[in-house]
Amino acid sequence: MSTINVLVVEDEEAILTLIQFTLEQAGFNVTGCTSVEATKPYLLEKLPDVVLLDWMLPGTSGIQLTKQLRQDARTKDLPIILLTARSDDVDKEMGLNLGADDYLTKPFSPRELVARVNALLRRRAPQKTSEVIDLAGIALDPNERTVIGNGQAIHFGPTEFKLLHFFMTHADRVYTRRQLLDLVWGDHVFVEERTVDVHIRRLRRALAPAQLENLVQTVRGAGYRFSQKESA
Ligand code: CA
Repeated sequence: MSTINVLVVEDEEAILTLIQFTLEQAGFNVTGCTSVEATKPYLLEKLPDVVLLDWMLPGTSGIQLTKQLRQDARTKDLPIILLTARSDDVDKEMGLNLGADDYLTKPFSPRELVARVNALLRRRAPQKTSEVIDLAGIALDPNERTVIGNGQAIHFGPTEFKLLHFFMTHADRVYTRRQLLDLVWGDHVFVEERTVDVHIRRLRRALAPAQLENLVQTVRGAGYRFSQKESA
């Protein structure tokens, strides 16, 4: 299973520790910060898969950080869950309007926390979840890292595996090389776009013995897609 990075910003140490413990037990890789300012070095270096953000923080508030993240092209799509106190009802709506994906009212149970994080990942980054996908004759198991295509085991390099996982969770949509680099290779990766072509070729070659290579389609002038429809 690919590691899912969660950034938690919460100034109450006891709550931060509880969240961190809960998410680590559930298999997430967690970084905790007690202020927005403390997140800056982390965010400069890498982007988390999910941000859990306390509403009320000393200094920059959670809502201000949400606004900042949404205004920056690099961070605008980060999945964000705001943590609010029960009394912040009016503010919740404002939080969602300003770009948070979800909110969680304190106090919450560990189970609810994990369920919300997983629900958000399923919605926003399904290639990051560990759910088995069965589509177009291919069964891909992210936990076991196995792929069965038309009944036979297919072996992939790590990049081809990630690429196939991404395609299978985003079927029928066309992605440019740049988008694939951002979404599959990840943030802060400075590789040439033609690297994508190399891995697409390897992916097709691996799928060919199972006669599934035509699922990975070139869309002229646009990019690539995974589809069972006739190739464009
Ligand atoms: Ca707080």
